[in-house]
Amino acid sequence: PARVLSGVQPTGALHLGNYLGALVKFTRLQHQMETFIFVADLHAITQWQDPARLKGQVREIAAAYLASGLDPKVATIFPQSAVPAHAELAWVFNCVARLGWLDRMTQFKDKAGKHKERESVGLYTYPVLQAADILLYRATHVPVGEDQRQHLELTRDIAAKFNHDFGVPGFFPLPEAVVEGPGARVMSLRDGAAKMSKSDPSEYSRINLTDDADAIAQKIRKARTDPEPLPDTLEALAARPEAQNLVAIYAALDGRTSAEVLAEYAGQGFGVFKPRLADLAVAKLGPVGEAMRRYMSDPVEIDRILAAGAERARQVGAPVLAEVKAAVGYWAG
Ligand code: ATP
Ligand code: MG
Repeated sequence: PARVLSGVQPTGALHLGNYLGALVKFTRLQHQMETFIFVADLHAITQWQDPARLKGQVREIAAAYLASGLDPKVATIFPQSAVPAHAELAWVFNCVARLGWLDRMTQFKDKAGKHKERESVGLYTYPVLQAADILLYRATHVPVGEDQRQHLELTRDIAAKFNHDFGVPGFFPLPEAVVEGPGARVMSLRDGAAKMSKSDPSEYSRINLTDDADAIAQKIRKARTDPEPLPDTLEALAARPEAQNLVAIYAALDGRTSAEVLAEYAGQGFGVFKPRLADLAVAKLGPVGEAMRRYMSDPVEIDRILAAGAERARQVGAPVLAEVKAAVGYWAG
C-alpha cells in the first residue's frame, strides 16, 4: 500500500522553501495516502543545538505543520526521538550502506565546508538515518525539496541491498521522492546559486513563516535582482537565476507555472513585479504565520498531538523492526 513519510529538522525558523518544498505537499498528500510526518530532532543534533531550546523548536515545527493544514486526525505527526526504532534501524543500515555511497553525498560536502574533519560522524551518516526514517514505515512516497533527491536515491540503494543481502526480496519497498513544481528548490534571496536555508546566517536570504507583512515586503524589496525587465521565455529567464527564483516563488505561491507567470509579467520591471509578489506572499503566508502563533500559544495541545502520533508511529514501526532483527539474526530478534 502507498504510504507517505517526511519530516523537517527543528534547527530554526521555517522558511518559504520548507513551506513550498515540503509542508504544502504533506498537506495535499495526507488526503491521498496514509501519511507519517515527523519532527527530525535526531537529525537536528548532527550539528550543535542548544539543549535548552530543542523541545521548543520541536513544538514550533509541529505548529507549522498544523498551521499549514496537516490534520492530526488524518496524518500521524510525531517527534523522531519518541520512536527509538528509528535509531535502531539506522544502526543496521549503517552496516548495509557503503562508505563509497556516502562519500558521494553533496549535502555533507556543502554543510561541512572546508573542515570536514571537525564535523560530527552523525552529519556524515545522516542520510542513513533518513533511510531508516522512511523504511521503518515501509513508506513509498517521500515529499521533499530538490536538495533531498540524492538522499532518496541512497535510501533506495540501502533498501535494495538489504533485501538482497538478507534474502528477502520486496522486504522494503524502493520509495520515490515526490519533488515537483516551481517550489521544489527555492533559492536564497541574496544569492541565486544557494538554496534558501534555515542555517543561512543572513535573515535577508529567506522569508520565514513567522515574518510579519512588513518583514516579508522588505525582504522581497531587498532581494537581489538585475535591472532588466522580465523576459518572455523560460530559456531567457534561466540565464538569470535571481529573477528565475522570484518568478518561481510567485508561481508556486499562486499555484501556477513559471511560464504562466511570465506570460503575465513579461516586459515588466522588478519595480512592478516585486510589490505584486510581496502582496501575494503576504496574502498566502500571513494566515499561516498567524495560525502558527495560535498553535504555539497552546503547547499542551501540541504535546498531546505529538504524544498520540508517537504512540501510533511506535505501533506501526515495531513489527517492521522486529522482522529486521530476525532477518539480521540478532540475539534479541
Ligand atoms: P538546514 O539548513 O538546517 O538543513 P533546511 O532549510 O535545509 O535546514 P530541512 O529541515 O533540512 O530544512 O529540510 C526540510 C524539508 O524542506 C526537506 O524536504 C527539504 O528538501 C525542504 N527544503 C529545504 N530547503 C528548501 C528550499 N530552499 N526549497 C525547497 N525545499 C526545501
Ligand atoms: Mg536541510
